[in-house]
Amino acid sequence: MENKDTITRREMVGGLGAGMLAMAVSPNLAMANQSDNPVNALDDPREKYPKPPFKSQSQPWPGLAGQMDPKPDHGENSYKGSGRLRGRKALITGGDSGMGRAAAIAYAREGADVAINYLPHEEPDAKEVIALIRKEGRKAVAIPGDLRSEDFCKKLVTDAVNILGGLDILVNNAGRQQTRASILELSTEDFDATLKTNMYAPFWIIKAAVPHLKPGSVIIATTSVQATDPSPDLYDYAQTKAATTNYVRSLAKQLASKGIRVNGVAPGPIWTALQVSGGATQEKLVKFGGDTPLGRPGQPAELASIYVQLAANDASYASGQIYGAAGGGGQP
Ligand code: NAD
Ligand code: MG
Repeated sequence: MENKDTITRREMVGGLGAGMLAMAVSPNLAMANQSDNPVNALDDPREKYPKPPFKSQSQPWPGLAGQMDPKPDHGENSYKGSGRLRGRKALITGGDSGMGRAAAIAYAREGADVAINYLPHEEPDAKEVIALIRKEGRKAVAIPGDLRSEDFCKKLVTDAVNILGGLDILVNNAGRQQTRASILELSTEDFDATLKTNMYAPFWIIKAAVPHLKPGSVIIATTSVQATDPSPDLYDYAQTKAATTNYVRSLAKQLASKGIRVNGVAPGPIWTALQVSGGATQEKLVKFGGDTPLGRPGQPAELASIYVQLAANDASYASGQIYGAAGGGGQP
């Protein structure tokens, strides 16, 4: 402390006039600054969250975050906002759990009104998110429904726009992932469900949303490291993520003329309901994330700030970008 003070004073004497120096070192101001800017302790990313081995566990698709062991961290007790999205109106698909829930909590704490979409089965998870958004004094809109229907996707956008009173952040985050060891085990129905959820739904939703998006609005897609480094058991899923990364890049070029930015988030292995409801084999789940350089899976909360950053005004030159978070491995 002593040393730090001396250096600060010396630097100030060198750089500031006497009047300003007196102001800068006045005890009252120094105390005010300290309480305004408490020092954040460093988090060791290796030790911050649970590591494998995990308990073997399985739920029917699409799974509930509330029934996972350990429960994922979506930032419920940790995310602190600072008004970065004040007055924004956001629609997040898959907003009940995982990355979508982390983004919903963070957006509300940054001052945005938030509509979430999810499957009816996920009502228990969605209720918790709605309560958390309302706790921030923001408008929370729950719009359950199946994104594999074009009619529902159109209605989702219309309802969100009507109830929120506009739309300026669209997060296409919902996704379907089901492990299949062999292409011979992958049915046409399966392949179709994955493509409908991961590729068609964003197409239908974006098409319905664009007429409502003003300059400065953003579209954010959740893609994956699978886009560029596909696993052998995710033949259908991985190709939808390659398509997602690709649409981010083409749409960014197309929508720049309207002042709409389009970006993607590419997670590595993240501890979410998708993984315990058929997304991973039990063998992979027990060791989940252990093969990353940080030696553990990520938690949804660790990606929340990326969704905020991509939506915020100060990211105004970022479009067509993929931001990764993969524990030291993977490439967006
Ligand atoms: P999650 O299960 O918590 O979220 C996925 C959500 O998708 C579900 O909550 C569900 O509401 C929604 N969904 C699925 N099918 C739907 C349908 N037909 N209609 C409406 N909603 C539907 O899991 P998550 O891991 O947070 O997934 C969010 C996104 O992250 C997905 O796009 C996923 O592909 C991607 N992702 C996940 C990981 C990971 O390791 N968990 C890694 C990379 C990318
Ligand atoms: Mg869910």
